Amino acid sequence: MEELLRRSEKLTTVGQLAAGVAHEIRNPLTTLRGFLQLQLETSKLNTRHIDIMLTELDRINLIVGEFLILAKPQATRFEDKDIRFILGDVISLLDSQAHLCNIVFDPLFCKEDCSISCEENQLKQVFINVLKNAMEAMPQGGQIRIEVTRYGDKEVSVSIMDEGIGIPDEMISKLGDPFFTDKDTGTGLGIMVSQRIIQSHQGTMEIRSTVNVGTTVTITLPLKRDKE
Ligand code: ADP
Ligand code: MG
Repeated sequence: MEELLRRSEKLTTVGQLAAGVAHEIRNPLTTLRGFLQLQLETSKLNTRHIDIMLTELDRINLIVGEFLILAKPQATRFEDKDIRFILGDVISLLDSQAHLCNIVFDPLFCKEDCSISCEENQLKQVFINVLKNAMEAMPQGGQIRIEVTRYGDKEVSVSIMDEGIGIPDEMISKLGDPFFTDKDTGTGLGIMVSQRIIQSHQGTMEIRSTVNVGTTVTITLPLKRDKE
């Protein structure tokens, strides 16, 4: 419980976020400007420069894209959906990529109905973010267990367990900070965006990890309530 409290307290304010975004976007923009200036002054832009420019443009696009998912309140429509079907779709979406990385998804879904009131695309984004992190943590391949468990009439939980590199204790408290990443091409936005989406669904997200053993992310959401 304490852990959950701490997590929701951590959600950053809009101002802090905006400053972070500005900073992260300014770096690639500076590179782009530098190369264009070089071209103007010397006409010496080569394919290597252009490759870097494209990479930097992709990075801006990626960062802006992650925020677009959050910034569409008008488009949000909550509908009743069974979370097992949402997960099934996400698993098929990532299956071929997983196969290429020697990763096997091992779903274990409960038999009962697990309908929740949700914005399907946002929840898909959450599961994509979490599964991608799990895959990226297993460069040698392995198994990712995906469990769906229904608790009475109240809640359903989804646990995603990988056998990856794990997260050192001193890093755990930084998870969910915008732009916190240890990957060369990471944005460090996946967990933050996911936490916000889960929070807007009145749910919780918990991360437990042991270095060199693996990480378990557990997302708990309220079940749809039957009409009175
Ligand atoms: P990104 O994936 O772009 O780095 P995220 O917000 O998705 O950003 O994750 C932030 C960081 O948390 C990652 O860079 C990684 O260090 C750590 N992390 C998240 N999930 C896992 C996992 N399943 N196993 C190991 N480390 C993880
Ligand atoms: Mg990620």
